[in-house]
Amino acid sequence: MYEAEKREIIKAGLALKEYKLISLSGGNVSMRLPGNHILVTPSGMAYDGMAEDDVVVIDLDENVIEGERRPSVDSIALVHIYKHMDRVKAIIHTHQVYATAIGMLFDEVPKAVTTLANACAGVVKVAPFSSAASLQMGIEAVERLGDANAVILKNHGVITVGSSLKQALYAAVYMEDAVKTYFIAKAAGNPEILTDGQYQEAIEVFKDYGQKK
Ligand SMILES: [Zn+2]
Repeated sequence: MYEAEKREIIKAGLALKEYKLISLSGGNVSMRLPGNHILVTPSGMAYDGMAEDDVVVIDLDENVIEGERRPSVDSIALVHIYKHMDRVKAIIHTHQVYATAIGMLFDEVPKAVTTLANACAGVVKVAPFSSAASLQMGIEAVERLGDANAVILKNHGVITVGSSLKQALYAAVYMEDAVKTYFIAKAAGNPEILTDGQYQEAIEVFKDYGQKK
């Protein structure tokens, strides 16, 4: 079941590789379907060559509904986020290098560029350290996401969320670009960042961006 959605999951995983947000089998991609079935990538498998049957269907209690593979070890945290945030229909977890690095320096991602505000729809906070594959990772993420589509897990990686996989993917890609831009500016001098007002304005503007159906 859910063949089309499973293909979407694999496509997003391959996009993470294309944008250099993961290495080898790192990170995971998941999506909530009606009835609270969660599609999640399997534990420890590279996205290259991943087939639809490798994507696991679980419920909010982490029971496997369909699939032979072991679901991502982070499923306990992912399920916690889905349970506590109705608006979240998709989650991407990466170990993207630049955003993870900035989490070691700041409590929130500097408001460097408008695209960060556009894609993340809020200020991106840094959650305190929690181990991978722990419930705490999900608890910390829920506490700091607020209305935003991204949170950084200190000394670990990034979680992005959205009302669609596309939204979660855009948050991950644009945040990485924003942080790279910040580091380049910082290496050359003292960067001027956006004011709170300018950042907020960029969030608002983007709500009306794109194609209307
Ligand atoms: Zn991880």
